[in-house]
Amino acid sequence: MSKELIRLENCSMAFDDELVLKDLNLYFNDKEFLTLLGPSGCGKTTTLRIVGGFTTPTSGNVLFDGVRINDVPPYKRQINTVFQKYALFPHLNVFENIAFALRLQKREDPKNPKRKIPLAEEEINQRVGEMLDIIGLKGFEHRKPDALSGGQQQRVAIARALVNRPKVLLLDEPLGALDLKLRRDMQMELKKIQQQVGITFIYVTHDQEEALTMSDTIVVMDKGTIQQIGTPEDIYNEPKNAFVADFIGESNIIDGVMVKDCMVRLYGHNFTCVDGGFAPNEAVDVVIRPEDIDIVPVDQGHIEGTVTDVTFKGMQYDIIVDFRGFKWLIQSTDHCPVGSRIGVKIDPEGFHIMKKSEYSGKF
Ligand code: ATP
Repeated sequence: MSKELIRLENCSMAFDDELVLKDLNLYFNDKEFLTLLGPSGCGKTTTLRIVGGFTTPTSGNVLFDGVRINDVPPYKRQINTVFQKYALFPHLNVFENIAFALRLQKREDPKNPKRKIPLAEEEINQRVGEMLDIIGLKGFEHRKPDALSGGQQQRVAIARALVNRPKVLLLDEPLGALDLKLRRDMQMELKKIQQQVGITFIYVTHDQEEALTMSDTIVVMDKGTIQQIGTPEDIYNEPKNAFVADFIGESNIIDGVMVKDCMVRLYGHNFTCVDGGFAPNEAVDVVIRPEDIDIVPVDQGHIEGTVTDVTFKGMQYDIIVDFRGFKWLIQSTDHCPVGSRIGVKIDPEGFHIMKKSEYSGKF
C-alpha cells in the first residue's frame, strides 16, 4: 500500500471574483505517477502551483506528511518543478546545469562545526554522474544547451530538478514543445526515470494519450472541479460521466432509458447490458466505444444504418454511420464503402451506462 504524501483539503482558488478551483479534495501518494488531466483553463496548473507553493489557495489546507504547509515557501518544500520552457542556463555546460543546485548547498565543515562550506567536489561529481546515467547523457557533460536536441535539453532539465533529491517532482506540460515522435519516446523515458528515482511525479497535461501511457493515477478535471480519479484502465473502461467519456478516448454518447436491470432502450430497441443499479424508466447516458461495435450483415445486426463517411487511420478505418439521423463513430479493420447499408452488433459489456449529469446532451 502506498503512503499518502500530500493532501489538498477543501482547496479553493479565486482570481479577482472568479473561482477557478472549487473545493478540491485530492491526495498524492508517495512514489506514484499522478497526472492532472483536463482541457485548457480547467485549473491544472493552478493546482500544481498550490502544491509547489507558488500560489496560496484562497481557502483550504495543503498538507505534506500530515503537516500544514500553506505558508511554507517553495524552496523549503522538498518539491521541484520542471516547466515546458525548460530554461537551462545557456552559458553553462550540461554538467554545470545539473550541478547548479548542489553548488548552492552547504554542509558542515568537519574541521569546524560552526562553519558551513560547499559540498565536496567528489560528491558533486558523483551525484551529477548518477543523474547523467539516469537520463542517458553520459559523455555529454561538456556540451552547452544549444548543442543539444530538444529532447536532450528536456532530460537535462529533469536531471537538474532531481539532483538535490526532492520528494516530489512537478511537471507542467514538459513535453509540449517536442514533436510527436520525440514526445512518445520521452513519455516512456519519463516513466522509467520516475520508477528509477522512486519519488512522486505530479504531471500536468491536456493530452489524454500521454496521461494513459504514463500514469499510475489520473485525475480528470473540468471547470475547477474533479470529475474522476482512477487508474488509466478505470478511467477508460468505466468513465463516470459523459465529460470523462468524451475527453478520454473516443466515444458515442447516446440518450437511453433503462427498461429494467441490465436492459437499456436506445432508438426504440432494447439492448442487454451489464450495468445494474438504475431505476426502470430512468433516463441515462449510454457510452459506446467505437472499437466495441461490430459491423455485421444487415440481417444479423441489432440495428442497421448507412455509412456516410470513411477515413483510413492506419490500424483501422473510422466509419461514420447514420442511424435514422444519429451519427455514430465505428472503428473497424473492415472497409465499408460510403452509402452501404450495414448492421451493427454490440456485446453487453460494450454499453457503459451512466447517470445524467450537467454534461448530458452536450456531446
Ligand atoms: P492550460 O492547460 O491552458 O495551462 P490549466 O488547466 O492549467 O490550463 P490554469 O492555468 O490553472 O488552467 O487556469 C485556470 C483558470 O484560472 C483560467 O481561467 C485562467 O485564466 C485563470 N488564471 C490562472 N492564473 C491566473 C492569474 N494569475 N490571474 C487571473 N486568472 C488566472
